[in-house]
Amino acid sequence: MNVYDSDRMADVLRPLGYALAATPEQADLVVLNTCHIREHASEKVYSELGRMRDLKVERRAEGGDLTIAVAGCVAQAEGKEISRRQPAVDIVVGPQAYHRLPQLLAEAERKAAILKAGKRLPGAGVLDTEFPVESKFDHLPAPLGVRAGSAFLSIQEGCDKFCTFCVVPYTRGAEYSRPAARVLAEARQLVDAGAIEITLLGQNVNAYHGEAEDGSTWSLARLIRALAEIEGVARIRYTTSHPRDMDDDLIAVHGEVRQLMPYLHLPVQSGSDRILAAMNRQHGRDLFLGLVDRLRTARPDLALSSDFIVGFPGESDADFDDTMRLVEQVGFASAFSFKYSRRPGTPGAAMGEQVPEAVKSARLSALQALLGRQARAFNESKAGLIVPVLFAEPGRKPGQLIGKTPWLQSVFAEGDARLIGRIAETRLVEGHANSLAGEIVTGTYEAAA
Ligand code: SAM
Ligand code: SF4
Repeated sequence: MNVYDSDRMADVLRPLGYALAATPEQADLVVLNTCHIREHASEKVYSELGRMRDLKVERRAEGGDLTIAVAGCVAQAEGKEISRRQPAVDIVVGPQAYHRLPQLLAEAERKAAILKAGKRLPGAGVLDTEFPVESKFDHLPAPLGVRAGSAFLSIQEGCDKFCTFCVVPYTRGAEYSRPAARVLAEARQLVDAGAIEITLLGQNVNAYHGEAEDGSTWSLARLIRALAEIEGVARIRYTTSHPRDMDDDLIAVHGEVRQLMPYLHLPVQSGSDRILAAMNRQHGRDLFLGLVDRLRTARPDLALSSDFIVGFPGESDADFDDTMRLVEQVGFASAFSFKYSRRPGTPGAAMGEQVPEAVKSARLSALQALLGRQARAFNESKAGLIVPVLFAEPGRKPGQLIGKTPWLQSVFAEGDARLIGRIAETRLVEGHANSLAGEIVTGTYEAAA
C-alpha cells in the first residue's frame, strides 16, 4: 500500500515539474512516506528526519533549500507532534490528503519565504491530516506506476474492524471501496502502460463492496471476474484479506478464474480462540481452518500465507501452543510474524498482563523456525516443475534474473534482461529457504515475445 501511495504522490507532483531523484542529496523535496503499524517503524521516522534536517542545514549554507514532507500513517497519528519534535519539517500530510500535496507545497513555500525574511526558521509547518469528504482517488492523475509488467491497484482503503492491537482504523479512517467502473478503467490504463500482472490492494481488500454503474454493489469476486476479461491481464492477485470476509463466491473464484494466481495471504494472527476474542478479530480458529479446507478444495495447489502476532496481552504458553498447532495443521508457504507492539490509543495498549519482552522473543523464534521449515518444504516441493515465471528485475550476479512463480516464490535464473516484465516458462531446479533456482525453458527473448 505504501509503495502504491508513494507512486501516486510522485504522479501528483509530476505536473508541477517534479521528477524522482535517486537520493535525498539530489532532491529539492523529500517525502518520507511512513508506517505506524509497529513502534519500531514509527521511531525510525525521527532518526531519518534528523538526517534530512542536517541535509537542509547544509543546503541552506550553500544558498539553496530542501523541503521536507512527512506523509503516511505516522503523519496522520502524530500530526503537529512531528513538527514539534523536528522543526525542520515543512509539511505533514495524512494518507487521505496526499492529493492536496500541490496546494500544501505552495503554502509551505509562502510560509518559508516569510520565515526566511524574518530569519526565523527552519520548517514551514503546514499540516493536513483531515479525512476529506472527497475521495483522493477522484483527484489523482492517471497512474503511471507499472514496474516490470506488474502494477498495484488500490480498490479499498480504511478499516471498520478495530482489532484491539491495530492503528489502521485510526490512521487510514473508515472503510471505503472505489466504484467498480473506476477500478476497471484504471486497470485498462495499467495494461496500456505495460502491466500484465495486477495486484488489487486494500487494508481489507476482500471486504470490497464497490458501487457499479447500474447502482448494484460489486463484491471482490465479481470485480476479479470482470478484471479477468480485460485483454492483456495475465495475472491477478489481491491483498490483504480478512478471514471473516472470505465468502463462498470469492472461494469459488479461486477455482474458476485462470488468471487469479494460486496464492492467498490470509492473516490469522493467533491460533487461540481466547486471544482471537481479546484481539476482537471476529473469527475463531475453526472458522479459519474451515476456510483453509474450502479454499484447498476449490484450488488444491493454493499457497497460503498469513500474519501472526505473538505476545498479545494475556497470551499464555497454552495460547501460544494453539498457534503452533494451527501452523502445523495448515502448513504455510510463507508468513509474516511479529512481536506484539503496544500502540498508543489502541485498546490493547491499555490491557493488563502485557507479555514480557523475553517471552515474546522466545515465542517469535520458535514460531519463525517452524514457519521457516514450512516455507523451505513448500519451495522444495515445487522443484522439478515447469511453471510460468514473471521476471521482475536483474539478480546480483551478471546475467541473472529474478522472477515470481504463480505461488509468489522468488526464482533466480540466467536469462536475457529483455525478459524483464515478461512471463517465461521456467524449470524449477532446486528449492531453498526463501527462493528457488530455475532454468528458463522458453530460452530466448524471441520465444517469449
Ligand atoms: N488488515 C489486515 C488483517 O486484518 O489481517 C492486516 C493489516 S496490518 C497493516 C498488517 C499486519 O501487521 C497485521 O496482520 C498484524 O499481524 C500486524 N500488526 C498490526 N498491528 C500490530 C501490532 N500492534 N503489533 C504487532 N503486529 C501488528
Ligand atoms: Fe487492523 Fe486488519 Fe484488524 Fe483492520 S482488520 S483493525 S487493518 S488488523
